[in-house]
Amino acid sequence: MTDTLQEAPTAVKPINHWIGGITVAGKSGRSGPVYNPATGQQTGAVDFASPEEVAQAIAAAKAAFPAWRATSLSRRAEILFRVRELFHQHRADIARLLTAEHGKVQSDALGEVARGLEIVEFACGIPHLLKGGYTEQASTGIDVYSIRQPVGVVAGITPFNFPAMVPMWMFAPAIACGNTFVLKPSEKDPSASIYLAQLLHEAGVPDGVFNVVHGDKVAVDALLEHPDVGAISFVGSTPVAKYIYTTATSHGKRCQALAGAKNHMVVLPDADIDMAADAAVSAGYGSAGERCMAISMVVAVGHAAEPLIEAIKERIPKIKVGAGDEPGVEMGPLITREHRDRVVSYIENAATEGAKVIVDGRDAANGDGFFVNPTLIDETKPGMKVYDDEIFGPVLGVTRVDTYDEALKLVNENPYGNGTAIFTRDGGVARQFQFDAQVGMVGVNVPIPVPVAYYSFGGWKNSLFGDLHIYGEEGIAFYTRGKVVTSRWPDPATSQVDLGFPQTR
Ligand code: NAD
Repeated sequence: MTDTLQEAPTAVKPINHWIGGITVAGKSGRSGPVYNPATGQQTGAVDFASPEEVAQAIAAAKAAFPAWRATSLSRRAEILFRVRELFHQHRADIARLLTAEHGKVQSDALGEVARGLEIVEFACGIPHLLKGGYTEQASTGIDVYSIRQPVGVVAGITPFNFPAMVPMWMFAPAIACGNTFVLKPSEKDPSASIYLAQLLHEAGVPDGVFNVVHGDKVAVDALLEHPDVGAISFVGSTPVAKYIYTTATSHGKRCQALAGAKNHMVVLPDADIDMAADAAVSAGYGSAGERCMAISMVVAVGHAAEPLIEAIKERIPKIKVGAGDEPGVEMGPLITREHRDRVVSYIENAATEGAKVIVDGRDAANGDGFFVNPTLIDETKPGMKVYDDEIFGPVLGVTRVDTYDEALKLVNENPYGNGTAIFTRDGGVARQFQFDAQVGMVGVNVPIPVPVAYYSFGGWKNSLFGDLHIYGEEGIAFYTRGKVVTSRWPDPATSQVDLGFPQTR
């Protein structure tokens, strides 16, 4: 975050802010390097905004708000339909930017765009989503109705692991509701957000309705403290999420801060072992384990353990690891060199902590690219770093327990509560698990239960700070304020002074 533009080789591309419908070059003198994680080469230098530059974006959003809020719902929906068409038409271009800066493989990047598009499609239904309630004759001659109105200028602060989808989770419902938006994307892979801004502009989103400022804590703090920002959506790591939530709310803003995760997948002895192994490998190593819904710990119950470990071991050498733009590659690199080294240290520690490294992926970590190969660690237990910490890499742990109750206890003692899954053929046990699990998103024979767009996404415990989950109906609630109108049209001749408290009968 502290590297400067001066240290960058000459071929690096400058990545600027987007304010008021145009590209704005940063003037703070601070910038950060952007890498191609597959080669380790710096490819970009992203401007870091000063508080004044953030204020400029907020001012553009504030100026655009009155007209955008007054734009009819049918017109807003029409623009969102065009946004949907353009994002869909350019999905391969968006995906290429994701691969170039994040490292995820093309098929995965296209999947990210598709899951983001779902939220844009949901937001196209905004006329229906903003329908209020109406009660005729609540009292004699009195009608009561509810409406939802936009918050105003709202901001989104997003993580590196979904540089297109997570911003779409936020800005699509936010602008559909009539808010104007300032996005502070991850400084590690910022180009996709600028491309999305250009497509929004092309689709007819008025200037100032959507803005992007890049940067680090300086830019984030400026958003958190600015009196003209009404709401903050955040997705990222737990310590930062806690900080964002407490700072935003202490400045009088509403806030939803989605945080870190460590997701357990319980495999019962009756499960189809091949299916469970396919799921564990896909969810553990997909996107190099850098999804917040990745499975990082398999909890194998009873005699499921041995055959499951064998089946996972068998699958690992078949995973093709490499640069995300190479055809057929299934798993790409990690986001930074530092992150790769951290994941390597977890694998190193696992053995000293008493766990068994069954497949060691460290051999890939010596090149220029930020690679670690799929790794499998058996006999992990609570209290070990490899079990307790969020690893966020292609490292799958296995914890052996004897009973379902022990498995459930592990899931519920997890300080995070983002996602979990159970693999079984017993519907009754699965239903009990769904009833008991202290987790926001549960999969039954589904390893990555990211809800569809018309439900809402969010974890419990240390995985979310705030009251409302993101997208779906909770997203619409987050980006609007309720108002209830009580109305009557009496004959003025019947009017009289009455100091009593209004009653309905
Ligand atoms: P991060 O917390 O480091 O960064 C997220 C955002 O916060 C970035 O825009 C970053 O610039 C900013 N930021 C970082 N440090 C800050 C600070 N000290 N003060 C203010 N702002 C700061 O997270 P990341 O590494 O980009 O993303 C990975 C994390 O996100 C993982 O922990 C993952 O589990 C989590 N995540 C959670 C979800 C979810 O839905 N719960 C989804 C995706 C990712």
